[in-house]
Amino acid sequence: MSTQSSRSDNSNKSYGEASWGRACNCGRSTIKLKAWTDDNPGRRFYKCDVHGFVSWVDVEKQCSWQKMCLLEARDEIRRLKSLIQTTSSGVNKEEDNQNLEPGNQKIEEEKKKLEGEKVKLEGEKVKLEAEKKKFEDLKKRLEDEAKVSKEREKLLRQFIGISWGGFIVAIAIIITILK
Ligand SMILES: [Zn+2]
Repeated sequence: MSTQSSRSDNSNKSYGEASWGRACNCGRSTIKLKAWTDDNPGRRFYKCDVHGFVSWVDVEKQCSWQKMCLLEARDEIRRLKSLIQTTSSGVNKEEDNQNLEPGNQKIEEEKKKLEGEKVKLEGEKVKLEAEKKKFEDLKKRLEDEAKVSKEREKLLRQFIGISWGGFIVAIAIIITILK
């Protein structure tokens, strides 16, 4: 702070030093900014990116009533700015909440609906699989029955064949004995 104030004091002495202030001691070019300190409200100065304050652009100091007026204006602007910031951030939060909640609700509802359909589809799948199994059981049973009846037929034929054969043999034996 002390170097800054001494520099500003130097630059206040003449216009020549003020124009020299356009470049910093380090050789970098400077930018013009307005100070809003209590001592120098609204007074322009050159600023180096690295070293900060270089020198004043406005060499004359303000008279006291101008200074008072500017300080009042500065404080009023700061007050209004913070008011706008708090108000707009509050408004944004409300808007965000209003926008988010119905969106979330919609998504949740869709999710629930989809899950319901999924459950329904799974139920139908289980039902279809049960019917498929029932059909397969029925098919197997029919096949088994067909197989069994075929075998019965075969056995019956064999039995008939055997009994006919036995009957013929018995008759032949009887005939030969009676002869
Ligand atoms: Zn510098």
